[in-house]
Amino acid sequence: MFDKFREECGVFGISGHSEAANLAYLGLYALQHRGQESAGIASSDGVQIRHRKAMGYVNEAFNAESLAALSGNFAIGHVRYSTAGESKLSNAQPIVIDSVHGPFAIGHNGNLVNAGELRDALVREGAIFQTNSDTEVVVHLFARSKSDTTEGAIVDAISQVRGAFSFIMMTRDRVIGVRDPHGFRPLALGRLGDAWVMCSETCALDLIGATYVRDVEAGEIVVAGPQGLKSIKPYAPAPSAQCVFEHVYFARPDSYVFGESVNEVRTDFGRRLARESPVDADVIVPIPDSGVCAAVGYAEQSGIPMRMGLIRNHYVGRTFIEPQQSIRHFGVKVKLNPVRSIIDGKRVVLVDDSIVRGTTSRKIVRMVRAAGAREVHMRISCPPTVSPCFYGVDTPRRSELIAATHTMEEIRKYLDADSVAYLSLEGLAGGVKGGRSKYCTSCYTGEYPVAFPRDEAAYLQLALKLNPELEKDPVAS
Ligand code: SF4
Repeated sequence: MFDKFREECGVFGISGHSEAANLAYLGLYALQHRGQESAGIASSDGVQIRHRKAMGYVNEAFNAESLAALSGNFAIGHVRYSTAGESKLSNAQPIVIDSVHGPFAIGHNGNLVNAGELRDALVREGAIFQTNSDTEVVVHLFARSKSDTTEGAIVDAISQVRGAFSFIMMTRDRVIGVRDPHGFRPLALGRLGDAWVMCSETCALDLIGATYVRDVEAGEIVVAGPQGLKSIKPYAPAPSAQCVFEHVYFARPDSYVFGESVNEVRTDFGRRLARESPVDADVIVPIPDSGVCAAVGYAEQSGIPMRMGLIRNHYVGRTFIEPQQSIRHFGVKVKLNPVRSIIDGKRVVLVDDSIVRGTTSRKIVRMVRAAGAREVHMRISCPPTVSPCFYGVDTPRRSELIAATHTMEEIRKYLDADSVAYLSLEGLAGGVKGGRSKYCTSCYTGEYPVAFPRDEAAYLQLALKLNPELEKDPVAS
């Protein structure tokens, strides 16, 4: 909601249902938290692919008329927050093309680390790009494949890209899900009557009344078409690198991701945090909504009551008009307000899931103090975030990550808290099945499972410099 890593994208696909586009719309609605900049749906009636994309939220992008125009039993959809490429309509997805294999549509969640070099090579060979999204590289590789079959062309294209990807694709008569060999981003498979559904998170299955069957496996291509379901595993196995941040923050708590309940994992992070970093206090207050699950766990473990001492205004639009006269903590106050009866005179433990720059956390700590808190202790249910993500998550430069450039004591002082503690890496890994061997934890360690281009590595070196901006008081300004 505030100072967070930004979610990547959400994908949805359904094969063999007479209301495919309507269900894709609902699926995207459930996945809206994964991307709010644009939304798109492509449908196929077995002959032709039609599509509509627009900037904004799902309910702004479609109406009854535009959905009715998306006929057919096959549909895929995409919500986007731009991780690679600018935020503009031409970069919205699904991308739809005509190819030698017939019409083809594709939506992508993730980031291809070698998209730049592949793009340069394709341009030198005469390819013309219409967008600056990395997904279009896959489209060109697919269209240029010499394979005789659609599936062969997909395998050809995918085997040339590296990085994080969960793709949802559609031809005239099938929907195809692809997950990268490391399994960075989630992709669930479900069933609705005779139809097959694929989506980023199981909350989309719940909304349309579908049943979760299993996850699309890392390195697997699942084809859902007239012949039923087909699984292709053309790639050599690679080390597992599921994004642990899905459990920390991105995914909805009512989803199952990587085979586990996000709510249960997140709550357990809170319990572990309480065991690792207990504090004498009167009340646990979650920062809504991101800190709620971990605060429940922290309260359970510590025996200290949890109360909703910060109330979130759910009706804040994307923009609001700042009053001419400056109001203290205005930006945060529009979204959150402390409940004085819960906070006044108390030793408060504020629980959140992550801190990126620290600017918002500091405003919240000060707001809670202004509401009468005697002490404010900050507890974060993941380790210090010290490195950017190159696998489909929008992160600030390393130099802007407070934990990359400051000691714990400096962070405490900056936040104006009485104490601050993060969950340890061991605590985080202990809270997910398979631990570190199954998960990417690069944003906490700076150790990257898939190499990225050298210019981005140079960008990482900025890490070592302190950011003077962080030393300024953002509240007073
Ligand atoms: S670097 Fe962090 S956000 Fe990116 S994939 Fe790895 S765990 Fe997820």
